[in-house]
Amino acid sequence: MLRTIFGELMGVDAEELDDHKHFVEMGADSLSLLQVSQAIQNKFDVKIPFRVMLEEFSTLDSLAAHIDEQLPVDGSLTTQTETDAPAAQLTTPEELPPPLPLKPELIARDEEQKPIGANSPLERVLTQQLQIMARQLELLRQRNNGSSSRHAAIPVETPKTALHETAPRKSDETAPRKIESPPFIPYKAIKKERSDGLTPQQREHIQKLIARLTARTSGSKRLAAEYRATLADNRATAGFRMLWKEMQYPLVADRASGSRLWDVDGNEYVDITMGFGALLFGHSPSFIVNALHTQIERGLQLGAQSQLAGKTAALVCELTGVERATFCNSGTEAVMSALRLARTVTGRTKIALFEGCYHGTFDGVMVRAGGKDAEGRVSAIPLAPGVPEYMCENVLLLKLNDPASLGVLRSQAHTLAAVLVEPMPSRFPDLRPEAFLRELRAITTDAGAALIFDEVVTGFRFHSGGAQAMFGIQADLVVYGKAAGAGIPIGILAGKRLYMDTIDGGMWSYGDESYPRSETTFFAGTYFKHPLTMAAVWASLDHFKHSGPALQEELNSRTLRLTEALNSYFEEVSLPARVANFASIFRFLFAPELKFAELFYYHLLEKGLYICETRNCFLSTAHTDHDLDFILRAVKETVAEMRAGGLLPSSTSSSAEARQIPLTEAQKELWILT
Ligand code: PMP
Repeated sequence: MLRTIFGELMGVDAEELDDHKHFVEMGADSLSLLQVSQAIQNKFDVKIPFRVMLEEFSTLDSLAAHIDEQLPVDGSLTTQTETDAPAAQLTTPEELPPPLPLKPELIARDEEQKPIGANSPLERVLTQQLQIMARQLELLRQRNNGSSSRHAAIPVETPKTALHETAPRKSDETAPRKIESPPFIPYKAIKKERSDGLTPQQREHIQKLIARLTARTSGSKRLAAEYRATLADNRATAGFRMLWKEMQYPLVADRASGSRLWDVDGNEYVDITMGFGALLFGHSPSFIVNALHTQIERGLQLGAQSQLAGKTAALVCELTGVERATFCNSGTEAVMSALRLARTVTGRTKIALFEGCYHGTFDGVMVRAGGKDAEGRVSAIPLAPGVPEYMCENVLLLKLNDPASLGVLRSQAHTLAAVLVEPMPSRFPDLRPEAFLRELRAITTDAGAALIFDEVVTGFRFHSGGAQAMFGIQADLVVYGKAAGAGIPIGILAGKRLYMDTIDGGMWSYGDESYPRSETTFFAGTYFKHPLTMAAVWASLDHFKHSGPALQEELNSRTLRLTEALNSYFEEVSLPARVANFASIFRFLFAPELKFAELFYYHLLEKGLYICETRNCFLSTAHTDHDLDFILRAVKETVAEMRAGGLLPSSTSSSAEARQIPLTEAQKELWILT
């Protein structure tokens, strides 16, 4: 069977293969060995990284003996068909694994081109391989309608980089779609019109609000103006409106404690931004502050391992049920790495994402829905200028919680490295796509694609075990962040051994012949497992562990009480607005006709309730009943004032419709600022 696999993938007669010859001597290269590895996995359900085929089981007979040892005693094989084999899908240059020495005949053909500085045979071979790939790239460019000039300046540093930069486009006849995407400018809510059809009553109200608020927060305004030239700050212009640009600046904090923060002018606020969800225990909880102080006194050693790293990883595993975990600095890094791991294990490039889910700022996930293709399927286009289009070509963009998406996935999942999803989507606070997630799990398992849960916002906030525990669905990889670090930058990448082992080669022991066997990819960062991060994450997770589920249950029910009270109030006063909520996350939603809804937040700020420009709200365990009463009171006073100023309708019959209010495009754009 192995001979057949090798023969087919290398394009030679199976009978001609020598059982005792090294695969490289037989002409195998890294691509064919990767394909063989996948075919073996499909056929025998035995995973043999292609590197092991190079270094250890490098002949047909040694490989056969090894597989034989791994098979069940009854010798039964898996029943997957040849068409399941992902090997057949490895067709694009970016799917190529790192190059191996070329077949001897290719080396011979290129011998006359002796590269400068290629001394050892291996160096020579690799350099020659680079040259061949560069030539192949040139051919690809020429095939793509002279697109070579577009990439002409990109140096061929390594084959992999070069291939990425020059991924071939499909020709017009073969391309399934031709999509013209309008240039996308994020946060296009910038409105320059000065009057906006204001009535005198509205104008006067806004002017007075601006005067009061800018007097109260003059220190924040002064700092914004003073440093605008040098501090590039997108938060300072988020949701910019000419109409109220005089009060367009971020609140500048002086200090914070518990549920409160104080600005540079000494004003006190109840904070319901709570670090975009990171401050689940409130500002500066003593157990985090103490842990950080202790660590600062011991030094900020980078390089030598933090003594907390191992036990914190073990605690992540204990709380969430994952097999292994590691730490980086942000959710973005963790998402990017999760995708890399999935691509390493599957050997596939394409990923599926869902419209409306947010996964941070890695270019590879910065996509949004563009036009529709011939089959009526939405295409993925760059979310913002500067995101390369070729990144989007690897993305299958689907609708969340939509049965049609499951149909598409069933037919395409075998081509996917991963399906990345927010299991509790933070931008759709009412949505709990449990049944959909179960289907995703089943489809990805069947197709050998990784299911990745992005729990950066929801992880630990909902339940210590996250969505996996809530829904009883195990993902292959899970990404955590925010609450786990209690305010210190953090990204946690966790999941099954199969995937996590590609970080370090997997399990091995001392005193025996074992060694890190799994195929590995690259995962590194100067500040990964930073001592301060580890101190904060350990203290935070340890707190979750010792508090038990009551911590989240109480926080969730407290938030529910608040949001129910707010919604009852909106209904009572017939305002087409509502608060969407899940767990301890909530967000105010306003009917599209309420065009001054943005001023709601400025009124709240004036009253001492802080909601950052992103407008997502979070409660923390530090918020008291007194704080909740304060929030309700501030909202009621704001609605009354805005109505008096003609900025909100005094009464409307459409309150029932308010329950259905979706996010506007502008709201969605602001939402993705964190
Ligand atoms: N995933 C989700 C669901 C997020 O909400 C975010 C940021 N809010 C990220 C990933 C990226 O995390 P970070 O900002 O730490 O890079």
